[in-house]
Amino acid sequence: MPKPAAQNDQEELTARIPASSLVRALGVVGDAWTILILKEAFQGRKRFNEFHDNLRIPRQTLMLRLAALADNQIFYRRPAQHRTLVQEYRLTPKGLDLYNFILAVWYWHQRWSSQQLFLPDTLVHRSCGAPLKAAFVCRCCDQEVHRRDVTFIDAPDRGTDPQPMKRLSRQNEDAFNKPVEGARLDDLVATTIVGDRWSNLALFSIFQGHSTYSEIKDALGISSNILSSRLKKLVGLDLIHAEPAGRRIDYVVTPRGEDVYPMFHSLIDWADRWLAGSKGPPQFLVHSCGQITDARFICLSCRAPLRAWDVTVRQS
Ligand SMILES: [Zn+2]
Ligand SMILES: [Zn+2]
Repeated sequence: MPKPAAQNDQEELTARIPASSLVRALGVVGDAWTILILKEAFQGRKRFNEFHDNLRIPRQTLMLRLAALADNQIFYRRPAQHRTLVQEYRLTPKGLDLYNFILAVWYWHQRWSSQQLFLPDTLVHRSCGAPLKAAFVCRCCDQEVHRRDVTFIDAPDRGTDPQPMKRLSRQNEDAFNKPVEGARLDDLVATTIVGDRWSNLALFSIFQGHSTYSEIKDALGISSNILSSRLKKLVGLDLIHAEPAGRRIDYVVTPRGEDVYPMFHSLIDWADRWLAGSKGPPQFLVHSCGQITDARFICLSCRAPLRAWDVTVRQS
């Protein structure tokens, strides 16, 4: 007999889940507004009013997000030069290391958004002068990394984590379910993909090879109503489609969904570096070349890794 919803919710708050770098990363940056704030920071914005004016984000929401990003050592605060009352939010090394993730969001947008791009369309790789075209490649073999080339292997002592993201989960749901007032809708398309925990985890579970409803449900340990609604959303976003296979339904990743993979992979690499602690990564992502994949975006013209300070907007 199905349990009442309230009991399910209670169980979710107290449950432990298999340790996951993706879940840890999403606990820090898995929120639509947070991703948009990071995008602005990588474009050189530093002050509260710059974030506020460019994103049209409610002040209270911005205040909470900046405080959380500072608490998580993504930003550090310092007084602006000559104006000691004005604070600047600057990216720490841990924050700068999220650039591959921001590029992954941009990459998805560039390929799939018919509207305004997440970052300007006129980006240039400063070292070679070419208009920016990026590829997500393995550091070991220099080949492109696609989801199908990666095998996920549990660390021997993977362990469990407490349920994450309690504080922001309500807002995540809101951001996913309805556009944030005043925000540009096109900005929200890609960011909401990674702005809702269960949608992400359902998609990631399918990426890892689970294709039927019961396989995904067992892998995530979530209630039927939550999983059904998230699968429906993923189908609605055209990231997966439902394919009848005899008496069962297989969930299959669409090409548009495949291009979400670099977002997840770059978040996992980041969390492996910054959130794994002394125990090390809970899972290893092994590339088809046989090496543990540490993937990054490179410039397709000169094949150098892309760094935030080396990518600029073309002056017309
Ligand atoms: Zn490789
Ligand atoms: Zn280049």
